Amino acid sequence: MSYPNLLKPLDLGFTTLKNRVLMGSMHTGLEETKDWNRVAEFYAERARGGVALMVTGGMAPNREGGVFPGAAGLFSDEDIANHRVVTERVHAAGGKIAMQILHAGRYAYGPECVAPSPVKSPISPFPPRELDEAGIEKQIADIATAAARAKEAGYDGVEVMGSEGYFINQFLVTHTNKREDRWGGSYENRMRLPIEVVKRVRAAVGPEFIVIYRLSMIDLVPNGSSFDEVIQLAKEIEKAGATILNTGIGWHEARIPTIATSVPRRAFTWVTKKLMGHVSVPVITSNRINTPEVGEAVLAEGCADMISMARPFLADPHFVAKAEAGKAATIAPCIACNQACLDHTFSGKISSCLVNPKACFETELLVEPTSVPKTIAVVGAGPAGLSAALTADERGHQVTLFDKAEEIGGQLNMAKQVPGKEEFWGLVDWYRTMLEESHVTMKLEAEVGADDLVGFDEVIVATGVVPRDPQIEGQDGPNVLSYIDVLRNKAPVGDRVAIVGAGGIGFDVSEFLVTDESPTENLEEWLEEWGVTDPGEHRGGLAPEGPQPEKPARQITLLQRKSEKLGKRLGKTTGWIHRAALAMKDVQMVAGVNYERIDEAGLHVSKGEAREDPTVIKVDTVVLCAGQVSERSLADALEAKGQSVHVIGGADVAAELDAKRAIDQGTRLAASL
Ligand code: NAP
Ligand code: SF4
Repeated sequence: MSYPNLLKPLDLGFTTLKNRVLMGSMHTGLEETKDWNRVAEFYAERARGGVALMVTGGMAPNREGGVFPGAAGLFSDEDIANHRVVTERVHAAGGKIAMQILHAGRYAYGPECVAPSPVKSPISPFPPRELDEAGIEKQIADIATAAARAKEAGYDGVEVMGSEGYFINQFLVTHTNKREDRWGGSYENRMRLPIEVVKRVRAAVGPEFIVIYRLSMIDLVPNGSSFDEVIQLAKEIEKAGATILNTGIGWHEARIPTIATSVPRRAFTWVTKKLMGHVSVPVITSNRINTPEVGEAVLAEGCADMISMARPFLADPHFVAKAEAGKAATIAPCIACNQACLDHTFSGKISSCLVNPKACFETELLVEPTSVPKTIAVVGAGPAGLSAALTADERGHQVTLFDKAEEIGGQLNMAKQVPGKEEFWGLVDWYRTMLEESHVTMKLEAEVGADDLVGFDEVIVATGVVPRDPQIEGQDGPNVLSYIDVLRNKAPVGDRVAIVGAGGIGFDVSEFLVTDESPTENLEEWLEEWGVTDPGEHRGGLAPEGPQPEKPARQITLLQRKSEKLGKRLGKTTGWIHRAALAMKDVQMVAGVNYERIDEAGLHVSKGEAREDPTVIKVDTVVLCAGQVSERSLADALEAKGQSVHVIGGADVAAELDAKRAIDQGTRLAASL
């Protein structure tokens, strides 16, 4: 397939973008390391991969506007010189890069935060200080100065972050702007700040410099902007001097998922399309676009002039080059899990990517040709084994990959059955393609023992996990299933179900059992389920009737022994979505139980150490999701024979097992052999 719209250049008058793909801003934490060679390599690698224009992570225009104390910005000549290392490397690689200026306003995680009005945000503990006239002038001047410094540092442009509920966005809506002076009240007054910011930025950088303005097109918060206001603002921002308008979707405090894996692909491009024709500058659309096919369709349908993708460039820096070369099937897919990118950012760790552990570690995790090719056996074609096999092959080793199953993928094949996790299909497909492209010898339906592995220079055991036995009296009864019976073998399940164990798999199985048809595959249904509507009809795009979920397919009780909130240990940025999705389906969440026994009446439980309140949860089926233990029998047999063996993934550590750790461990091991 070719991508005529995606790969078409975009003439901006004073400069031309080589295609219609923007790498959207991501906070990776790299700038804060102050290792400028590492920052430069991260962006240069993506420039080599053919993207037309990249936007950096948000840079603070001043201390009070930083997302957190110490957030990176261009405050001194030294900062400018450091950023020049990045821009020069990107330009040498044939790329273009714009710096995002991000003033967090009341979202700043620090006591000095400022805002139009002293309205505390629900996602920060710090109440903001209301700015006076001079304070507002200072913020505008600081943003303009940041733009001038960006130009001095060699950037091709700036992106003014005007969406997602940050400082500039906070002026636009009455919920956060209660002012009665010329910066508040009427919409004309509330728009004054964004317009002034863009005018002053343009004046600071001159005419031949890209100024992107990221505009919130659907706020997804109560009393958000109407679409008439969005159009009015867009026209004014164009007049004020913006070169390009980018789309922002939802404030950070919105309770509607906007980028998680359960959000349908291109779920919000219809919003951007509503602006098309109202302005003459190019418009970019965004959110959950992760393949060239989807990007091409979005552009062909006239939803935008250009697309923005951010996380897909962590998964594969060479996205555009591979699309151009007709090798789209080899693009490592972003599965929108957030596990190694946003979850890291919000835990103060450097971002990376579940699918591509080299992301943000370009200078540290080097996969180089080996000078001593070896024969390597990898046992287990789940994520750990696959990444080890492909990395070893890439380096020039001679790899044989064994799995007793008839298909590759291991536990990924169960994940892909879960409604909202359809992206896992693409990940398994990608591994299959990469194996076909490699020299790896694949042996499926091959159950190997220690004797079969004699003669290999290295043996890697990636045999995964087996379900933990919770040892509940009556668990062998006909009404008891394991998660494998449910997800893999599609065993019949009754209408009333108790799920033992509320880890990632207990939540996944609950989702699977309450859902008939996945709303992730049906945009209209998904929008209805979460209460999203046309912002042209209702402010902020919130449906007045609220979320309208489909009736649950079954009545589920999800249980755990710990007394903490269920789902507390799920992903930092996605756990709330899983909890909210199940709550919408009336899943009962019960913490702090002891499992007494299972019989035909259902699951008998008691509470606390004293085993009080014996109750029976009357259900037709009990599903065991009580965690997993390492499958180490092959590793133990090899070790008993005195053979050295590398054990990775779930076979190594089953606790906290997930694909992120497995892929990272497999890649790093193979890079070192
Ligand atoms: P898990 O997260 O370790 O959860 C196991 C659950 O079983 C816990 O709720 C635990 O709670 C319970 N449990 C442990 N020992 C038990 C026992 N002896 N009897 C009864 N209950 C017991 O394991 P998992 O759910 O199997 O998931 C495995 C891993 O896969 C996860 O850690 C996760 O990383 C990954 N995964 C991730 C996702 C995701 O969305 N990111 C989805 C699926 C899987 P109590 O001990 O309190 O009862
Ligand atoms: Fe995409 Fe997950 Fe990688 Fe983040 S960690 S870039 S969401 S695949």
